[in-house]
Amino acid sequence: MADSHSFQYWQDKAKGLTFEGRAFINGQWYRAAEHFDCVSPIDGAVIAQVSHCNDADVEQTVIAARAAFEAGVWSQLAPAKRKAILLKFADLIEAHTEELALTESLDMGKPIGDCLAVDIPATLRALRWTAEAVDKIYDEIAPTGPNELGMVTREAVGVVSAIVPWNFPMIMAAWKIAPALAMGNSVILKPSEKSPLTAIKLAGLALEAGIPAGVFNVLPGFGHTTGKALALHMDVDTLVFTGSTAIAKQLMIYAGQSNMKRVWTEAGGKSPNVVFADAPDLDAAAQSAAEGICYNQGEVCTAGSRLLVEESIADEFMAKVREAVAKWRPGHPLDPATNVGAIVDETQLNRVLSYIDSGLEQGAKLTVGGKKAEPVSGGQFVEPAVFEQVTPDMRIFKEEIFGPVLSVVRFSDEAEALKIANDTEYGLAAAVWTSNLSRAHRFARGLRAGSVWVNQYDGGDMTAPFGGYKQSGNGRDKSLHAFDKYSEIKATWIKL
Ligand code: NAD
Ligand code: MN
Repeated sequence: MADSHSFQYWQDKAKGLTFEGRAFINGQWYRAAEHFDCVSPIDGAVIAQVSHCNDADVEQTVIAARAAFEAGVWSQLAPAKRKAILLKFADLIEAHTEELALTESLDMGKPIGDCLAVDIPATLRALRWTAEAVDKIYDEIAPTGPNELGMVTREAVGVVSAIVPWNFPMIMAAWKIAPALAMGNSVILKPSEKSPLTAIKLAGLALEAGIPAGVFNVLPGFGHTTGKALALHMDVDTLVFTGSTAIAKQLMIYAGQSNMKRVWTEAGGKSPNVVFADAPDLDAAAQSAAEGICYNQGEVCTAGSRLLVEESIADEFMAKVREAVAKWRPGHPLDPATNVGAIVDETQLNRVLSYIDSGLEQGAKLTVGGKKAEPVSGGQFVEPAVFEQVTPDMRIFKEEIFGPVLSVVRFSDEAEALKIANDTEYGLAAAVWTSNLSRAHRFARGLRAGSVWVNQYDGGDMTAPFGGYKQSGNGRDKSLHAFDKYSEIKATWIKL
């Protein structure tokens, strides 16, 4: 038998894999009236038929979720009990690591090595960290006068719907369902139509872990149908979303048109990665700049898509960046040696290619990659691209591409760098490389972004909040701050 790290091993394992495509509603598998094809971007194969949930399906799910919440089968459990079940859920996910990793790779095209090294561990960490936290949080007593008792308590909001994207399907789901469930809410998860399979798999594991019927539901379907029905529903209390800024805005409109449900969004980004001449290690900065745009095929909300380089080192530094990016080569996602997988689908690949065309048309110079690749026939692949001689007004520098396309602008001083870095409608993340302590702090303060990295790119953990300024969204995932989205705060005044 091939060892667990070989290309052959994963290819053999993929052949034996079957996928559940049904929805999971009120503790039961449910086959919707309509289906859609789940296509692997690796080779264009249809790998599953997935239920497409309609308005009536959404209706029965919300009713079940509400009933479970009212019945208290989950919402009224002691936090320690919910914790125990969520930890069991995590253990079951871990026990299914290979199957989940393989499913993710086949469904959305990311390299199997990344699924194993990042997607599964980060999903487990989100569930375990959050579960462990929930029986250690205390409510407050207000500092009132002697004749009153003022209690400030957190309560679950009720029915939470989570609508998530396809780039990190399990992690994005876990960042939301872990705190939502830990707080005692009922949850309806709608995965992206481009990556529904692991979410459906999670539903079965949640059932096995002992999460009661109606408390965790998974409704696959499209955004403009299933997602819209959830967003317009009068009995969904909170909508949490990760995805594009355009859809985030639409969800806020739906909330206003319906029951004013709370809407929390993590949306797009166009993050600046700013390298000063006094960066402590230009080789590390170049490697990091390459990884920051190539990792996960550039399909990362915090991708370092705008590289700002101080003029005095730009020639030397860009030679290193070009060399580093050229090492990120599209390959078969099931080959553990592959570092760039397939783009999620043909639509997204065409979007990336059209941005590359726009860069060329607007006069930027393509210095690395940028061509459609075909390591597997019928697959959606592109070579990571570097554009130089970019000006800040070009579309490739302003708009989120969500693919491996790096746009480089040179700057001459700190003030100019900060101005360019902040000149964006987004504010998700930013990085600065410098050895000057004062400048590091000054620049970090000046950046209008939810995450700022100094002398690294893309650091993060469950211990710190994650989310955006400006049109990158509102609210935060991860850390104790995440509980804010899944709870109402009640003030109770007792006359003594
Ligand atoms: P998308 O906005 O198209 O879709 C996201 C989800 O919303 C999907 O489940 C989709 O079905 C659903 N949806 C689409 N239209 C809808 C509608 N009218 N009503 C209700 N739901 C609807 O985004 P995507 O293409 O899946 O993901 C890429 C985007 O996600 C990028 O813009 C990226 O920056 C962003 N993203 C952000 C973060 C973050 O944390 N800030 C993380 C990952 C991805
Ligand atoms: Mn898919």
